[in-house]
Amino acid sequence: MKLTRLRIVGFKSFVEPTEFLIEPGLTGVIGPNGCGKSNLVEALRWVMGESSYKNMRASGMDDVIFAGSGHRPARNVAEVTLTADNAGRTAPAAFNDADTLEISRRIEREQGSNYRINGREVRARDVQILFADAATGARSAALVRQGQISELIAAKPQARRRILEDAAGIAGLHARRHEAELRLKGAEDNLVRVEDVLGGLD
Ligand code: ATP
Repeated sequence: MKLTRLRIVGFKSFVEPTEFLIEPGLTGVIGPNGCGKSNLVEALRWVMGESSYKNMRASGMDDVIFAGSGHRPARNVAEVTLTADNAGRTAPAAFNDADTLEISRRIEREQGSNYRINGREVRARDVQILFADAATGARSAALVRQGQISELIAAKPQARRRILEDAAGIAGLHARRHEAELRLKGAEDNLVRVEDVLGGLD
């Protein structure tokens, strides 16, 4: 799954609608200090399902919304949309009916955020699994934050194993296993209840 376009509106310093086309090959982002290079990478991580505002260098998730500048008032909404090429049909079955996937996340001040894939409202977990299957995602080793290399060197073996699992594209299996276990537990509880009811009929 190849990422082809990133569209940002009202997110951090990107107050105006801004679109980045991700062409084949290597893409470099250059600019003076404070121009928004890290904000751009954070927009990418955010739309991929980042749930920690601390990882967004914020003191609350609403802080990702444009907070106003000298002559511009603050905004109440931020939205990031990522377009991915799914011609190889590698997306999870639920979203695998289109050649192009548009994944978007929108946050409204004090209302929290929601996600959509091709216009259909989905859970954060659906978006996280979609990217985990593609060996990328908000917490994956594919996106390297400032200071992350030294953290990796000092990391415990379990944390390092997670990086290998990301690279192998199997990180999504953990989330699926957890969901399957919850469903199994629900089915077991229902069975116990049925047995109780049947016992009452004897
Ligand atoms: P450096 O090269 O120094 O790492 P950078 O290009 O990565 O800088 P960023 O850290 O992405 O720059 O951007 C910092 C700018 O973003 C600051 O000017 C800051 O005021 C602005 N900014 C961050 N959050 C918001 C927000 N919610 N609303 C408006 N501006 C914001």
